Amino acid sequence: RTLTVQLGERSYPIYIGEGLIDQAGQRFIEHGISSKSPIMIVTDEHVAVQQHLVRLESVLKQAGFTVSSAVVPAGETSKSLAVFEELVTKALQAGLDRKSTIVALGGGVVGDLAGFVAASYMRGIRFVQVPTTILAHDSSVGGKVAVNHPLAKNIIGAFHQPEMVLYDLSTLQTLPQRQVRAGLSEVVKHGLIWDAEFVAWCDENADRLQALDSDALGYALFKGCSVKAAVVSKDERENDLRAILNLGHTIGHALEAVAGYNQLLHGEAISIGMVGAARLAVKLGAPEQVYTVTKHVLSRVGLPVRLPEELDTDLIMDAMKHDKKFQEGSMTFIVPVAIGEVEINHTVSASLVREIVEELKQEA
Ligand code: NAD
Ligand code: ZN
Repeated sequence: RTLTVQLGERSYPIYIGEGLIDQAGQRFIEHGISSKSPIMIVTDEHVAVQQHLVRLESVLKQAGFTVSSAVVPAGETSKSLAVFEELVTKALQAGLDRKSTIVALGGGVVGDLAGFVAASYMRGIRFVQVPTTILAHDSSVGGKVAVNHPLAKNIIGAFHQPEMVLYDLSTLQTLPQRQVRAGLSEVVKHGLIWDAEFVAWCDENADRLQALDSDALGYALFKGCSVKAAVVSKDERENDLRAILNLGHTIGHALEAVAGYNQLLHGEAISIGMVGAARLAVKLGAPEQVYTVTKHVLSRVGLPVRLPEELDTDLIMDAMKHDKKFQEGSMTFIVPVAIGEVEINHTVSASLVREIVEELKQEA
């Protein structure tokens, strides 16, 4: 399957299919990536121990490219200025020039990090994404690249669109189950904000998705990328519409911060956050089924829908107050008004949000 992210002259294709890494050399040549300038692959140590890195290196070498690889530690901590600097050092040592390409082979961490190196090295060089997680269907569309600062996530970044995305479904087979489910959270989110039919499809195909059935996964990633692409095409720089992508993220981010990023994966936190947003929606007048369907489909793909009781409500509320959307006793929420449709900028009182947090701890 192929789709195009429509962004004028920065448009780019996303190829989704089994074994696409084996065609990487040919694709690179088709996209005018010159073999005269060296290529650097950035990946993390979990991906590097699988065969994915060796496969990609060898196919690119066979196609005549000069290839070097940089392996960073796995996990969010690699999205740092220190690792960024190391990668720039490696790029310089490997002789990367203005016509070089950086290839991100990995999940969202590697994509954001390598993308930011590509955005800044010599004021911007070409960049190709080879996502190896389900969550990365989200991060590979939209061109947001960044590293973290100790005080704030994703605060040092840029917009830098890739030349193409090569989504090889076979790489997903080595992904740990918990990461599979966490990635499906954003897939379901893309349905909840845009496409009720796709939400019903996720429900019906939840078992196939969790079992990494290639057809089901290919379709789900295609749909997820398509929704994100449609939103981003209409609003590349996050003026308004793009905010709908943050469904479940106000509560979700607070939960991640309070629980610790290793306790609760991003996808797990926003799953609970989406159930919270749905509860809120019903209180604001949406039909009950917004809540029941949201909760049902997330449970079906194996995600948590109940807030762990040990997470302190005061701390969660404090974390939300640090969110820039909070002002004087009230905050703005993205609220699902129906399955497949959300509204942004709902102002709700902090006391109502607190009520929701408490209710989320009682979720059956
Ligand atoms: P990740 O990149 O850390 O991957 C999750 C884990 O799976 C890691 O331990 C990784 O080493 C391992 N892994 C990856 N691929 C594997 C494979 N094929 N086999 C075995 N193990 C594998 O995390 P993620 O969930 O992919 O992405 C999260 C990051 O994405 C966050 O930093 C978040 O900020 C970012 N993000 C960015 C955007 C954006 O628009 N740029 C959107 C959403 C998320
Ligand atoms: Zn997210």
